[in-house]
Amino acid sequence: MKVNQEIASAARQIEEKSLALNERMVQFLADLIRIRSYTGQEKLAVERTLQELKTVGCDEVWMDTAGNALGRIGNGRHLILYDAHLDTNEVTDEREWRHPPLEPVIESGVLYGLGASDCKGGVAPIVYSAAILKELGLVDDFTLIIMGATLEEDAEGFALRSLVERDGLRPHVVLIAEASDLTLRIGQRGRCEVRVRTLGKAAHASQPELGENAIIKMAPILMALDGMCKNLPQHPVFGQDNQVVSLINGPHTPNSVPSWCEIAIDRRIGPGETMETILAEIRSVVGPLGGEAYIPDQPVLTHTGQRLDGPSFYPGWLLSEDSPLLEIGKETYRSLWSSQPEVGVWRFSTDGTYSAGVANIPTLGFGPQEAQYVHTPEDQINLEKMRKAAMFYALFPLVYVAMNKNH
Ligand SMILES: [Zn+2]
Repeated sequence: MKVNQEIASAARQIEEKSLALNERMVQFLADLIRIRSYTGQEKLAVERTLQELKTVGCDEVWMDTAGNALGRIGNGRHLILYDAHLDTNEVTDEREWRHPPLEPVIESGVLYGLGASDCKGGVAPIVYSAAILKELGLVDDFTLIIMGATLEEDAEGFALRSLVERDGLRPHVVLIAEASDLTLRIGQRGRCEVRVRTLGKAAHASQPELGENAIIKMAPILMALDGMCKNLPQHPVFGQDNQVVSLINGPHTPNSVPSWCEIAIDRRIGPGETMETILAEIRSVVGPLGGEAYIPDQPVLTHTGQRLDGPSFYPGWLLSEDSPLLEIGKETYRSLWSSQPEVGVWRFSTDGTYSAGVANIPTLGFGPQEAQYVHTPEDQINLEKMRKAAMFYALFPLVYVAMNKNH
């Protein structure tokens, strides 16, 4: 009971403080939006985030090997990491945008700008949760790491993997601040890229009988891959896998019989599928038709010049319904708003693919952004929702410590 009263009183203080700090948080978000930060080019956004982490009073602020912006508050036993990424999707046609993408505009409580929903509108409130906790002096038996992550758009999980495996910071739990419209997310579908290659024999196009056409060899493979779709694995929560042939390539010589042809397959997968299971399925279909399948390496270069290339495989994950972490998330929500949060899963992939999918670190999603605006010219964040998210992130470590005492 005493714990509940303490949490309730902290929730009230956090609400007040979130209102007092709101303008600064919005200003920080606006600054981030003004900085172009495509994947691998996050340097200035990382520097701006480090500066803000310092300003809000983090006990330690640093950049890791992969160039992530990191801040720490507290020194307690429970190591909690908040992850929101600083890189954004690239603008394809600026004319489609209502406002220039790098010029933040606020209209009726909504801030428009590139990356507002993915994922700078998640970075600002995780940074300001540290500000709230610091200003209120709400320290407890936790260490909270705030991570402005890099590389997420092209290679989700790679920067977090580097932090955990290269720099040796392994959190006990991870909270991912991607778009969830203030609901809890307990999993995501994964994805994998597979390439299939056929080989032929080059010849001048004027005497094709001397060659062997690799593109024509690919034709039955394409049909067979399409035919596979109805038999792909089913998952009780995520449904059936998707598989799309998304690219086709060959030698760029229009007057020759092509000696090779390669296609790319985008496969969306449920938890539990591995590189081996996926390759085995595809090989059983394309192998007899003369195609060779493999999973390519995703080339990844950090803004610090570090190469992090690795297989283009991003496993799905699902937190169990009775996980203590989910209960802590629900309790945090209830303590703030006296109602039950919605619980769901993400259709898209996040850094959780590494923390939960590879490293088995309990991972939960919660963010103020709304998925329908992600990667669109309508990119935006509702500022009241963003303030609420900052409240959630500020209270979460206190509930985490309290509930771990109870157990
Ligand atoms: Zn994102």
